Amino acid sequence: SQPWKSIEPIGLDAIKQLTIAFQADTNPNKILLGEGVYRDDDGKPVVLKSIREAEKILYEKKLDHEYAPVTGVASFCKGSKKFAFDPKNQEQDDRIATVQTLSGTGSLRVAAAFLNKFLPKDTEVYFPDPTWGNHNSIFNDAGFNGRIKKYPYFDAKTGGLAADGFLAAIEKMPKGSVILLHACAHNPTGVDPTREVWKKVSKACKDRELVVFFDSAYQAFATGNEVDDAWAYRYFVEEDGHQVIVTQSYAKNFGLYGERTGALHVVTGSKQEATAVTSQLAVIIRAMYSSPPIFGARVVSTVLNDENLLKQWRVDVKEMADRIRKSREALVYELHQAGSKRDWSHITDQIGMFAFTGLTPEQVERLIKEQNIYMTKDGRMSISGLNTKNIKTVAQAIHKVTS
Ligand code: PMP
Repeated sequence: SQPWKSIEPIGLDAIKQLTIAFQADTNPNKILLGEGVYRDDDGKPVVLKSIREAEKILYEKKLDHEYAPVTGVASFCKGSKKFAFDPKNQEQDDRIATVQTLSGTGSLRVAAAFLNKFLPKDTEVYFPDPTWGNHNSIFNDAGFNGRIKKYPYFDAKTGGLAADGFLAAIEKMPKGSVILLHACAHNPTGVDPTREVWKKVSKACKDRELVVFFDSAYQAFATGNEVDDAWAYRYFVEEDGHQVIVTQSYAKNFGLYGERTGALHVVTGSKQEATAVTSQLAVIIRAMYSSPPIFGARVVSTVLNDENLLKQWRVDVKEMADRIRKSREALVYELHQAGSKRDWSHITDQIGMFAFTGLTPEQVERLIKEQNIYMTKDGRMSISGLNTKNIKTVAQAIHKVTS
């Protein structure tokens, strides 16, 4: 038989396609401001000092390569729970079900499967508008097709948060819906709610009895401090008693992209509930990929469980966050130097890996075609692709297409 004959080729999402187009570009001066991967000032990938140290320790231990348990490396799960929540006592710790996952994406996928399995069949899930493109694909594949809705998030006029629309939308969500929130460094906009707004969001979610879902892909990468970047969901849990779900990625903050290291946390009402939830997550994982990879988990748990390495990691992650912040300032400075009269202050107001520049799809198209500078059509720029060598060129090119 020829079962695949009628299959049509299909492109990946816009971000992956952009990387492919960049790689095919033969211009030696091309610049990629696409995917959310950290680069140093030479445009090179970075392995953090703390991670190198942990690798050495692990190598010396001559560990075996046996399977991890279905729920992952135990010391990693324990460390991740502390890192994400810093539970105040044993009772709080016991109420959180934690499993290791295939980075943030795998965590989202397992969480979506869990929600689809255990929430009422008509439950809707609400994403910020806009959101990371893969959220849609992940939840669609997990069975939420036709049940994915949006809530207002970004105000294109100000380049900031549409706080009023956001809060009003929550008030209209059907009770029991799932709301997906970005814990910090919202992707793609770089716009996070202030703590005052978060408090209102928490209260509104409580009034609507929503299932609150935090995607945490940038803890410590946004502000340089892991406590500040976990503030929102810790507040939801500690102050308003939300039983949140948190999907955690170590791709950016530990620089472990390809190691696929992450965790899924489900805050429950009791130790018994947490045990039951963990067992159900294990069943989902067992059928999906049986058990997670061990190397990244061992690296992370080595860092999290060693005071000196943890201190070094804090220096490492702060250096990344600081470089991103300084690049934002430098870009705005260079835009004005290039002669731009526009207000670019949203670029320095926003936080994290991305700036939502406000460039139109046509302007981005011109940047790619005429200047070999690549970013996604929505005007999202990966700030870490900027460095002291290319920032003037980028600023001048942006000025050219926006004036
Ligand atoms: N959520 C968001 C909002 C992200 O930006 C990312 C990374 N692009 C992820 C989840 C997951 O990434 P990973 O699977 O590499 O951990």
